[in-house]
Amino acid sequence: MKLTIIKIVERKNIMENTIVRTLIFNKQVRLFFVDNTKLINEILNLNKETNKVLKLTLGKTLSVVSLISGTLKGDQRISLQLTMSDPKYKVFADADAKGNVRGYLNGELLKAPFDGSLGKLIGHKGTIRMIKGSHMNQFTGITDMPYGNIADDIAHYFIQSEQTQTYIGANIRFGNDNQLLFSNAVFAQLLPGAPPGLIDEVRQVFNKNQKLLNNSSVDNMEEKLSKLFTDVHVIGYSPVQFFCGCSKEMFYGMLHSLSKNDLKQAINNKEPIETGCQICGRTYSFEQSEVQELL
Ligand SMILES: [Zn+2]
Repeated sequence: MKLTIIKIVERKNIMENTIVRTLIFNKQVRLFFVDNTKLINEILNLNKETNKVLKLTLGKTLSVVSLISGTLKGDQRISLQLTMSDPKYKVFADADAKGNVRGYLNGELLKAPFDGSLGKLIGHKGTIRMIKGSHMNQFTGITDMPYGNIADDIAHYFIQSEQTQTYIGANIRFGNDNQLLFSNAVFAQLLPGAPPGLIDEVRQVFNKNQKLLNNSSVDNMEEKLSKLFTDVHVIGYSPVQFFCGCSKEMFYGMLHSLSKNDLKQAINNKEPIETGCQICGRTYSFEQSEVQELL
C-alpha cells in the first residue's frame, strides 16, 4: 500500500513543469503539451503584479514560450518581444533548449493604468518579434498580432515565418482572489506531407475538451492525451523551469552607462549603488571602491 502512494507522488512530480512530446494522427502531427502551473505561478509571484489582465499577458506569453523551448536543440534559444498597439508597452520572454524560461513586462506596462481586456491592450497594431537560433545562426522574424490573444498570434507567427501549419493554445485561469488556478499549453505542427485539415481537427479536439485538460487530478498527461487522440506516440519528456541567469558582473557592466557625474556623486555621498534585476527581482549593490574603478 505504501509503495503505491509513493509511486503516485513521483508521477505527479514528473508531470508538473514537464513537456510531453508526442506524435499523433499516424505520426503526421507533432504535438507538445505542458502543465506549467507551477512555473507560471513562480514567475507571476516574482513579478508582484496584481492586475489580472497584466498577469494574463505575462502568463500566457511565458506559457507558450516554455512550450516552444521543447522545439529547440543544442545551444538554440528563442527571444520573444511583444509590442502592443501603444508601442511603449512591451512584453519580453526567452527560453533555451534546456527549458530555462524567463520573462517580464516592461516598466511602462507595469505602470499602465489599464483595466480593459487583453485584446484591447494588444489592439490592432500589436507586433511579435522573435529571434531564434544559436550564436552562429540567428533568424529574426516580425509579424502582426491579428487575433489579439497571444496564443493564436504566436501560431500565426510560425505559419508566416516557417510556412508550417501550427496550432497553439494557452489556457490560464485565475481565481476570484487573482491567484493562478492552472496553466497549460499545447503546440501542434503538421509534419511534411500531412493533410492541412488535421491542424483544425487538433484545435477542435482541444476546444471541446478543456475540462479534461484543466483537471489536475488526472495527473498523467499521456493518459489525458490518449483520451483525446487514438494514436498518441510519446517521443519524449523535457522539463521547464524558471532561470534568470543574471549576475553581479552583468550589472557592473551596466554601470558604465551611468554618467561620470552620477558615479562621482555616489562616491561623494558615500552611498553604494543599488541595482535590481527586472526579471527575477534580485538586487546587486556596488560599494564605493567598486564604483571608483569605473572612473
Ligand atoms: Zn535576474
